[in-house]
Amino acid sequence: MPEPKSVLVIGAGLSGSVAARQLAEAGHRVTVIDERDHLAGNCHTARDPETGVMVHHYGPHIFHTGDRQVWEYVNRFAVMMPYRHQVKARVGDQVYALPINLHTINQFFGRAMDPAQARAFIAAQSRSTEPVSFEDQGLAFVGPALYAAFFRDYTRKQWGVDPARLPASILKRLPLRFTYDDNYFAHPYQAIPRDGYTAMVAAMLDHPGITVELNRAAETVTRAFDHQVYTGPLDRYFSHRLGRLGYRTLHFEHERVAAPWQGTAVMNYCDADVPHTRITEHMYFAPWEMARFTRSVVTFETSAQAGPGDIPYYPIRLLDDKTLLARYQALAQRTEGVTFLGRLGTYAYLDMDVAIRKALDASAHLIEAFARHARPDVFPDAA
Ligand code: UDP
Repeated sequence: MPEPKSVLVIGAGLSGSVAARQLAEAGHRVTVIDERDHLAGNCHTARDPETGVMVHHYGPHIFHTGDRQVWEYVNRFAVMMPYRHQVKARVGDQVYALPINLHTINQFFGRAMDPAQARAFIAAQSRSTEPVSFEDQGLAFVGPALYAAFFRDYTRKQWGVDPARLPASILKRLPLRFTYDDNYFAHPYQAIPRDGYTAMVAAMLDHPGITVELNRAAETVTRAFDHQVYTGPLDRYFSHRLGRLGYRTLHFEHERVAAPWQGTAVMNYCDADVPHTRITEHMYFAPWEMARFTRSVVTFETSAQAGPGDIPYYPIRLLDDKTLLARYQALAQRTEGVTFLGRLGTYAYLDMDVAIRKALDASAHLIEAFARHARPDVFPDAA
């Protein structure tokens, strides 16, 4: 057994909690701190005391993965209930199914095409340049009419900039199907933890080698540790000394209403004249228990540029941000005794399963480096 290290993990979200668990299981002594008053970061869930509905406080989180090891990992800490995510979209006075599939295409164009006809129809209108921006990608993907209806204005609302300035990678997240399959995700494993994500993270942190302190900001820690795993915003670690990386923040307005209210978990609002991007009705994330609710909780979500006091959600990654990111990465490389991890620590748009995979890989790297008395990589999860 190698000499145990004392490790401070900053941030009790998925990345920090997985790293803490792995390090503790390897015999290290871990302290996890988070400045918020709850675990699980932005996947935090809690039951609304009045209605009993499990609310996703920072927006909808659906666990999906093709990574078997990650799937088995989450199943150690939560009872994962089967769930199939379907998203509806309001465009004008119509409701469509997302991701864009044969039903969406036929409804939108008032046709009854079969898969081969629809594929040829879309191919005839898609503009195929080498997709660099979100707009290029959208036009190549679905053609101008569907792009303008479903992607252009939603994306402007969500990201606050013209889609011609955004990277194509954002849209590459979404499939286009010439069948009636409207499953939002194509991964083989898709589920929601029965008792919520916060309970899942609490189970990860329930280990004799782990101490957790909530309401504790990193800046207030004076005790020395052998190593730090930092999952907060990369620019904040350096007191924003080179400037601020761009983030979108989200505003959530929660309301209690009669059940059912919108009749589905997520309704996107794609039109420019509606301020919110989507409305979430939380009870639909729990199909195994939703029949018992007579009242429902809905959340209106709007997106805005993150200012200094706001919670950062989505890294924007415009050209300026990428240049600044490279400078912060260079600064980080010259820093001793810290590992940067997760969505905020590495300034990346990560799904939950990818965050877990990267945290597992990073902690394996750390454990190995500790054993060899070697200097661990500052960004062990770099893609
Ligand atoms: N998107 C869009 N219209 C939609 C849904 C998504 O234009 O109705 C675009 C938008 O730019 C969004 C991206 O596709 O940021 C990825 O969508 P996803 O549903 O994966 O976003 P998330 O749930 O992570 O916010």
